[in-house]
Amino acid sequence: MTTIQLPQLQRDVDLRAFNTFGFSARAERFLRVESLESLQQAVALARGQGWPLLVLGGGSNLVLRERLPGLVVQIALKGRSVHIDGETVLATVAAGENWHETVAWSLGQGYYGLENLALIPGTVGAAPMQNIGAYGVELEERFHSLKALDTETGAIRHFTREACAFGYRDSLFKSAQPGRYIILEVTFALSRAALPVLRYRALVDELEQHGIASPTPLDVFEAVCRIRRSKLPDPSEVGNAGSFFKNPVVAADRYRALHEAFPDIVAYPAGDAYKLAAGWLIDRCGWKGRSLGPVGVYRNQALVLVNGGGGTASDLLALADAVRASVLERFGVELEMEPRIYPA
Ligand code: FAD
Ligand code: NAP
Repeated sequence: MTTIQLPQLQRDVDLRAFNTFGFSARAERFLRVESLESLQQAVALARGQGWPLLVLGGGSNLVLRERLPGLVVQIALKGRSVHIDGETVLATVAAGENWHETVAWSLGQGYYGLENLALIPGTVGAAPMQNIGAYGVELEERFHSLKALDTETGAIRHFTREACAFGYRDSLFKSAQPGRYIILEVTFALSRAALPVLRYRALVDELEQHGIASPTPLDVFEAVCRIRRSKLPDPSEVGNAGSFFKNPVVAADRYRALHEAFPDIVAYPAGDAYKLAAGWLIDRCGWKGRSLGPVGVYRNQALVLVNGGGGTASDLLALADAVRASVLERFGVELEMEPRIYPA
């Protein structure tokens, strides 16, 4: 039997700088992987030793408790390649590349389609996990395929869009088979023709305010960046993981009853159902800007929970429970958390 050697493996590492809430969480073992080979070795070692394995990208969509037993692997695979076929561009990007830098790079090359997804923190490899979305575009609309390592069999698998089972902030990798696959690279289907997506009022208003009637993809990119910078807390200043709850989707008759009781409720049609703005529900329960100890609800956007400094996962989950209980009591609506908690 060959012994697996991982000289870069570190012990008892504080992950405070590796999660955007800034929680102090100690990983029993930690490894940054820059090659497929060392990732395969790390997975084999964790499997052989029976260690729990946590894959980390930019740490912007998770909640870390104080102790993480087993092995935490940070994905740092890098590289991009492109295949052009007429107007269509297939861009393959390694999982460890930064998401926002990838969006900026694609625009710089004249490959369009990702501009509405500007300034989302994190890595390319994590983007399919919850089918990231913003300002009217979801990843699945620009997705071609991906390659992932199956931690159960050690095989490398190729996934088409259909095989990923994308949903609203969801995918096979987040729900049906959590933790089984490590995404190695993602191929995007982009376009050399500009087709701006202007479905969101806030985006249209921002462009209008700058006197832009026919926006280029770069105009859209810059407008999205401006809105986000004005509205969302910068994790380097205030710990947060973006939206803490998903917007709940309810049946049409349920929505009509809610609308009758609360005529100013904010909701959008979603197929036959309605998507309620969770931030509005939380705000109406009086939570916006309130704190519970070191954690709180962000003053400009009630969907974002923040760590004011020195908070822990337990503080945050107590706040999340209190917020959920208020919304359930007042509106009869269950809120579901968007980030995952580790250990579960
Ligand atoms: P991490 O937090 O490191 O990981 C998230 C999950 O993915 C974990 O379960 C992890 O185990 C898993 N994972 C990570 N990498 C891999 C991999 N290579 N293979 C397999 N599993 C992996 N999200 C949106 O959808 N839209 C937004 O507009 C948005 N805005 C945000 C704004 C702010 C200020 C913040 C802090 C967050 C926001 N988010 C948003 C959430 C978050 O940025 C995204 O979900 C992002 O894709 C997470 O990337 P990450 O690399 O930080 O993932
Ligand atoms: P917002 O503009 O205040 O709108 C509130 C909610 O209404 C959004 O969550 C959005 O749903 C929905 N909405 C607005 N216009 C819509 C339309 N024309 N059609 C369908 N739904 C519409 O939202 P915000 O908080 O500032 O966020 C702006 C965008 O960035 C949103 O797309 C949001 O998802 C994304 N964002 C996501 C995160 C995250 O962590 N997941 C964090 C920050 C921002 P959707 O959320 O379904 O788009």
